[in-house]
Amino acid sequence: MTQPGRSAIVTGSARGIGAAIARRLSHDGLAVAILDLEESACIAVRDEIINSGCRAIAVGVDVSDEEAVERAVSRVATEIGGPSVLVNNAGITRDNLLFRMTTSDWDSVMNVHLRGSFLMSRASQKYMTESGWGRIVNLSSTSALGNRGQANYSAAKAGLQGFTKTLAIELGKYGVTVNAIAPGFIETDMTADTAKRMGIDFEDFKKGAAKQIPVGRVGQPEDIAAVVSFFAGDDSSFVSGQVIYVAGGPYS
Ligand code: NAP
Repeated sequence: MTQPGRSAIVTGSARGIGAAIARRLSHDGLAVAILDLEESACIAVRDEIINSGCRAIAVGVDVSDEEAVERAVSRVATEIGGPSVLVNNAGITRDNLLFRMTTSDWDSVMNVHLRGSFLMSRASQKYMTESGWGRIVNLSSTSALGNRGQANYSAAKAGLQGFTKTLAIELGKYGVTVNAIAPGFIETDMTADTAKRMGIDFEDFKKGAAKQIPVGRVGQPEDIAAVVSFFAGDDSSFVSGQVIYVAGGPYS
């Protein structure tokens, strides 16, 4: 699947799942904007993509900051063209049981996942609707179905599913599809941090998780990038408002 002449924004792509998505979309022929909190953190992925012969830029932005988002998206439009594809991937966890969860833990998670996806989508959609073609992919999670210690994160990830379906209804007539991917356990810094917080060795944590997953292994960032590639391309033009669980089983 090649998409020359199109550009993509991937938020939170300095590492983990976002970095794999950025690499995959550049492989598919898109110019890619690597967005993350710090521009300096995006340089390694940007250079790797440029060195492979593709176009990429690094942009520092906090996706929950309205003005910074507007500036970042117009910079992308100026430097590599108005975005045809937006992947709302930036994310954080602030896990705790409800009685210990602070208001700040709640707000931070809502701000990055929900407010961030809203601001990025609103700023990007005008380029997509004007050109009559666009793709928005939101990163939800199996935690949307409920997960102990993640009231904030579960609510945000479930919220993103409603957000996805509503944007699909609003933007479909402009040639813009909107879908969500709900990953299960993916091996990244995020899951490594969870193991650390629980005082479990990461290798043991992964082995324990793999035993619960029907295909018998934990996921890799590339497993998610492959599904983003499908949603971001022409072959998925009749698929919109869907949530696909990429979890090695129905939802585990
Ligand atoms: P990760 O390794 O922690 O990477 C997340 C990236 O997002 C980091 O580079 C982080 O920057 C960036 N970020 C955080 N807040 C931001 C903000 N306000 N503005 C811009 N960038 C921001 O996480 P991951 O495991 O790759 O997860 C990627 C996405 O998949 C997240 O939405 C996550 O919730 C979702 N997901 C992950 C899993 C999993 O098992 N890993 C499962 C289900 C869903 P800093 O490095 O500066 O913090």
